[in-house]
Amino acid sequence: MVPCRYCCKDIHEQASSCPQCGGVLKSPVPATTSESGSLWMAIASLVLGVLGILALAEDSKHGKEELIGMGIILSAGLALGVTSLGNKKAGKGMAIAGVVLLSLSLLVLLGSF
Ligand SMILES: [Zn+2]
Repeated sequence: MVPCRYCCKDIHEQASSCPQCGGVLKSPVPATTSESGSLWMAIASLVLGVLGILALAEDSKHGKEELIGMGIILSAGLALGVTSLGNKKAGKGMAIAGVVLLSLSLLVLLGSF
């Protein structure tokens, strides 16, 4: 039990409003932090996926070290996209697109070794 902010009567700590005075104790917590975190990851995976496709679509031959570096970056992007998908929140469409693009990039990358 916690004291009401307005009338100081003991009320349940999970109560969103005071049954004694009707005072609103806590506004519904918006889940923006985790959603924006998920959105950030979805955007990052999509951007990395597009960059990966663009880099691999170039005609120029990439050196082996460059390919390894790109592979690491693409894998990181893939991890971000998959994590973002697991959260099932904002930016799911972007996360799916990012995961698809990153998977394609990685396949092309592996094929070019
Ligand atoms: Zn109260």
